[in-house]
Amino acid sequence: MNGITKLGNIIVKEIRVKSALSRSGLPEYDYALNPYLGCQHGCIYCYAMDFTRGEPGVKWGGEVVYVKVNLVQALLRDIRRLRPGIVGISTITDPYQPVESRYKLTRRSIEVLCNADYHVSIQTKSALIIRDIDVISKCGRAVDVGFTITTMRDTYRVIEPMAAHPHGKGIST
Ligand code: SF4
Repeated sequence: MNGITKLGNIIVKEIRVKSALSRSGLPEYDYALNPYLGCQHGCIYCYAMDFTRGEPGVKWGGEVVYVKVNLVQALLRDIRRLRPGIVGISTITDPYQPVESRYKLTRRSIEVLCNADYHVSIQTKSALIIRDIDVISKCGRAVDVGFTITTMRDTYRVIEPMAAHPHGKGIST
C-alpha cells in the first residue's frame, strides 16, 4: 500500500500491481484491464462487488477506492510478452469514475494499447470520458465505447447515486 488520500468523501488508497492485463472470462474480450478496485458510482444493482476481494468489495460504492498507481508501467511490460487482442476497460469498475480525473490511468492505458495494436472496448456511465475524446479519436476503429443509461428519469439518483445525469445536467464526473 502506498499513499492514502481523500477525494471528496472517498478514501483513495494507492496500490502497486505486477501486471495490468488479466485474461477475461467474458467471451467478447481477450483481456480485462481495471485501473481501480471499487467504484464510486455505487449502483444499487451492481454485481461487481462480488468479484472484488477485500476492502474495496466490502465497502463498495462510496467509501474507498484502490488505485493501481503503477498500472501503465505494468501494462508496458505486459504488452511486450502478450499477443494483441481485445481489452475490456473496465470489467469490474467504471474506468471513468471520479478518481480517474486525478490519476488518468484509463486515458494513459488507452494510448498505450492503441499504439500497440490492441483493440480497446470501454464501458462507462461517466461523462468524464469526454475529456479523452482526443485520445480516443486517434485510435479510430481500434476503440469502441458503450454507455449505460438505465432511465431518463430523476429516479436514476436512487439507482445510480454517483453516475452522470442521463440528460447531462449537473454532470457527475
Ligand atoms: S458504474 Fe458499473 S461498476 Fe460502478 S457501481 Fe455502477 S454498475 Fe458497478
